Amino acid sequence: MNQDRQWAREAIRTIEADFQRCADTHLIPVSLPGLPGVELYFKDESSHPTGSLKHRLARSLFLYALCNGWLKSGSPVIEASSGSTAVSEAYFARLLGLPFIAVMPASTSPAKIEQIAFYGGQSHLVQDPTQIHTESERLARETGGHFMDQFTYAERATDWRANNNIAESIFQQLRFERHPEPSWLISSPGTGGTTATLGRYVRYRQHNTRVLCADAEQSVFFDFYLSGDASLRLDCGSRIEGIGRPRVEASFLPKVIDAMVKVPDALSLAAMHYLAQSMGRRVGGSSGTNLIGALIAAQHMVANGESGSIVAILCDGGERYATTYYDAQWLKAQGYELEGLIAAVKACVEQGVALPEGVLREGI
Ligand SMILES: *Cc1c(COP(=O)(O)O)cnc(C)c1O
Repeated sequence: MNQDRQWAREAIRTIEADFQRCADTHLIPVSLPGLPGVELYFKDESSHPTGSLKHRLARSLFLYALCNGWLKSGSPVIEASSGSTAVSEAYFARLLGLPFIAVMPASTSPAKIEQIAFYGGQSHLVQDPTQIHTESERLARETGGHFMDQFTYAERATDWRANNNIAESIFQQLRFERHPEPSWLISSPGTGGTTATLGRYVRYRQHNTRVLCADAEQSVFFDFYLSGDASLRLDCGSRIEGIGRPRVEASFLPKVIDAMVKVPDALSLAAMHYLAQSMGRRVGGSSGTNLIGALIAAQHMVANGESGSIVAILCDGGERYATTYYDAQWLKAQGYELEGLIAAVKACVEQGVALPEGVLREGI
C-alpha cells in the first residue's frame, strides 16, 4: 500500500475513533398545550463537541474527501465559510494534523476568527464577499491543498441510507414514543444538506413522514422551490445565521422536500426567544425558524383532526449570539420589535392561536 493510502487509512481510523467517543445528541420534548394531539421534539445538535449540526457535516466531508483520495498528509484543507462549518472543520483538521484555512469576508466577527484559531485554524479574509469561492479555489491550487466546498458536497457526503445519520438517529430515539413515525420533520436550509438527508432517508425507508423546509426572509431557496429558477440572486446576506442564501446552492435538493415555508426574520427571532424561555437555555436563530415551521405543521394537523409527532432541528446554542440576537440594544439598533411577536408565538404554543400573517407557504 502506498504512503498516501496508508496515511488516509490512519486518518479514517482517527475520525472513527473520535466518533466512537462521542455520544448521540438528545431528542428533547417541547410541550404544545394549545395544540392537543401533537407531540413536538427538538433534535439538539448544539451538544456536539463543536456546538452545532455542522459537526456532522464536517465529519462527513472529511470522510468523503479521505475516501476519494483528496486529502494528503501535510497539505492544507480550505473552506469558504464565515460560520459554524469552518469551526467544525478546524476541529477535524486539527484531529488529523492538517493545516486549515477558512476563507471569509473581512466583515466576519473577531469572535468567529477566535473560535477557528482556537482549533488551530487560520483565517484568510477577503474584501469582496462574493469572491470567497474563487479565492478558496485559488488558495487550494497554489498551496496544493483541498477546497472542501460545503455548498456543493454537503448533500452527497452524508450516508443518507443510514450509518447513524441525523435521520436514522431521530427514528431510533422515537422508538418508544406514542407516535414513533413522525408526521413531519422540520429543517431549515443553509447548504441544504440536512434537509436532503432527511428527505432521502424517509423515502428510502418508505416512511409516511413528510419533510418541511423553513427558509429565512433574505434567501432565494423558497422562490427557487416555487419557480425552479436556479439563476435567482440576492445582493444581501441572510440575517439568520447559518440559513438562507443569496444564490441557489447545489446541495439544496427541492424534489425531496414535501412542503416549504418562508419565515419573516423578526418572527424567527421571536420564536427563538420563546423557545429559549421555555427550554431554560439559549438557542440560535435558525432553531426559532424551525419552531415556526413546526407550529405551522402542528396547526395544520390540529385543523385536520390528526394526531402525531413532529421533530424539528435545534441547530446550535445561543451562546454565540449573546451580543446580537440576545442583546436588547442590538435588536433595537437593527429595528426589531419582538415583544408582540414573542407573545404571539406563546399564544400559538399555549392556546393554539393562529400565528401572525406573513409566513409564506407551499405544499401545506
Ligand atoms: C448550517 C446551519 C443550518 C442549516 O443546515 P444545512 O444542513 O447546511 O442546510 C441551520 N442552522 C445553523 C446554525 C447552521 O449553521
